[in-house]
Amino acid sequence: MNTSRRSFMIFSIGMGPALWLTQARADAPHLSESDPAAAAVGYKEDAAKVDKAKYPNFAAGQTCANCSLFQGKSSDAWGGCTLFNDKLVAGKGWCASYTNM
Ligand code: SF4
Repeated sequence: MNTSRRSFMIFSIGMGPALWLTQARADAPHLSESDPAAAAVGYKEDAAKVDKAKYPNFAAGQTCANCSLFQGKSSDAWGGCTLFNDKLVAGKGWCASYTNM
């Protein structure tokens, strides 16, 4: 087996479980705002409802759909998030862990 093929196989075997663990299934439950992990980072399904006094780092236009941790397409209503890998977050949502692309 040549080196590049072996490297690819090792990468694939190593990354497979990691990808499986970090991507929420399309039919995964939606993250609730009352979930303690969500509440801890001020998650809102609608970014327009973010408490701007409590989260002054929030900027207009920031949503889960354009956060680098979002695992869906920018047009998806719901998608995975690397913070909440077993739940889906709203594309229109936001939390204090928002990260620019
Ligand atoms: S980290 Fe990004 S995608 Fe995940 S809930 Fe927060 S803003 Fe949304």
